[in-house]
Amino acid sequence: MTDAYEALTAKLAAADPEIERLIEAEGRRESEKIRLIASENYVSEAVMEATGSILTNKYSEGYAQKRYYEGQQNVDQVEELAIARAKELFGVDHANVQPYSGSPANLAVYMAFLKPGDTVMGMALDMGGHLTHGHTVSATGKWFNPVRYGVRKDTGRIDLDEVAKVARKERPKLMICGGTAIPRTIDFEGFAEIAREVDAVLLADIAHIAGLVAGGAHPSPAGHADVISTTTHKTLRGPRGAMVMCDAEHAKAIDKAVFPGLQGGPHNHTTAAIAVALHEAARESFRDYAGQIVKNSRALAKALTDRGYDLVSGGTDNHLILVDLTSKEIGGKPAAKALDAAGIELNFNAVPYDQRKPFDPSGLRIGTAAVTTRGMTEDDMDPIADWIDRAIGAAKAEKEAELEAVAAEIREFCQTYPIPGWHD
Ligand SMILES: *Cc1c(COP(=O)(O)O)cnc(C)c1O
Repeated sequence: MTDAYEALTAKLAAADPEIERLIEAEGRRESEKIRLIASENYVSEAVMEATGSILTNKYSEGYAQKRYYEGQQNVDQVEELAIARAKELFGVDHANVQPYSGSPANLAVYMAFLKPGDTVMGMALDMGGHLTHGHTVSATGKWFNPVRYGVRKDTGRIDLDEVAKVARKERPKLMICGGTAIPRTIDFEGFAEIAREVDAVLLADIAHIAGLVAGGAHPSPAGHADVISTTTHKTLRGPRGAMVMCDAEHAKAIDKAVFPGLQGGPHNHTTAAIAVALHEAARESFRDYAGQIVKNSRALAKALTDRGYDLVSGGTDNHLILVDLTSKEIGGKPAAKALDAAGIELNFNAVPYDQRKPFDPSGLRIGTAAVTTRGMTEDDMDPIADWIDRAIGAAKAEKEAELEAVAAEIREFCQTYPIPGWHD
């Protein structure tokens, strides 16, 4: 064990061995598996230290220089630094770094621009959208009037002509672009043109691709979307948190919606860790990281295609691959469970126009942000595709021993790529 790791967990081990053991086990799990969950990553030790800092002790309702509690001499500076770094990195006028996570960040945007019952237009969940884009079970679908767009059946891609048609008919007040299972570049400019035509506010939700945008591997919505929301913990590789960014015109409305509209005190330890992550993302090496994520994703997409897997839209432009297993005659859920047993962690996912039920859909969602953080490159993607294929084959043939054999190979492979924040 490294000294730093022991120092970090010694107090916890003494105070609460049960929890310490579970964290230790999770560290082992995260280090021994190939983690392909598209929304996950490994944060740096610096981000982790800020997250675990004494800033968690402080209450700071309000904004810098306008707080409701005393003692903000340091916290104000932390939040101002995070804001300045977000503005610089994303090229925006204003940033609010207080939302607790991506879902509350999106709700803040609704709060800023809509009244209950107003029409909001987002991508359907089963086409790649997010719950908070107006799905029926979400507050955003229950309290507002959701209308939806999807992708074309023949191309698996968003068709802006269809988006425009729905927008002209439904006249939404808020239009959302972005999602959770979109393997292709989002045309922010095209969406902005439609939003302007129907006089809607355009929200670009870049939760998944924020790191790619920051690192220049995906076009930026800045200058096109009125508002940009993002989580900070996916490709951006920060702590669990979120930001809402906008032009100067909407700054007041957004800030008021986050606090006091929806939230109480901000999580200052998270704000500090966001500032650290933004600092890391502004470095030249992060541009290389973002570029490598996409290179790895393309290489993995090709390696899977070579093995006869169908990919929604035929490939990928970003960190994400959506596999349609229909032709492989196995459901997404049994495949994902078998892969987990074989040391490959990902999630089952609906594919557009899925013929199966949402809880056992036809697809697998794959992302390369986490493996790229570990230092894996294109050369590693072919073996990964091979392990995926072997595990799926073993699942179909019900060969448990083969899953275990793959898991053992992967454990060994992973030793070459240590993860930050955990001992060897
Ligand atoms: C992950 C995600 C969110 C929600 O983030 P949470 O932190 O899980 O609440 C919102 N929108 C999109 C597009 C996402 O991918």
